[in-house]
Amino acid sequence: MPTIIVRPVGNTCNLACKYCYVDAVVSPNMSIAIFKKGLERITSFYLGENIKNIEILFHGGEPLLWGLNKYKKAEKVISESEEKYSIKYIKCIQTNLICYDSKFATFFKKITILLVRLLTVIKVKILFDYAKMDLKHLI
Ligand code: SF4
Repeated sequence: MPTIIVRPVGNTCNLACKYCYVDAVVSPNMSIAIFKKGLERITSFYLGENIKNIEILFHGGEPLLWGLNKYKKAEKVISESEEKYSIKYIKCIQTNLICYDSKFATFFKKITILLVRLLTVIKVKILFDYAKMDLKHLI
């Protein structure tokens, strides 16, 4: 199954892991219009290959910084695309969980979004404790 990697906030993150490969810069947030356009374009390509199951991986930086409202709007776009093209998206998010709360949990459970790479998160937590990393970006 192919994966569409979406980086809705680019490199922006609320942690500053010393081993991180992304530059510690604040990137502009992706608009829903751009998300929709990108999803349409890439989905059209896979439809041409007769592929009907596609993974969408929200990645970062820290993708939860996009905000719950943006995820709700993105879900509407995703659902419309599923209906229009008779395809199925498997939705995943790679997150450090710093912003993850009951509102995200309720919504993600409702739309079946998978939290992935939890080992990475655990590693981040361990290194975070161990290295006493810079907290100035923590929100
Ligand atoms: S949480 Fe991930 S993106 Fe953020 S600084 Fe750490 S490794 Fe980089």
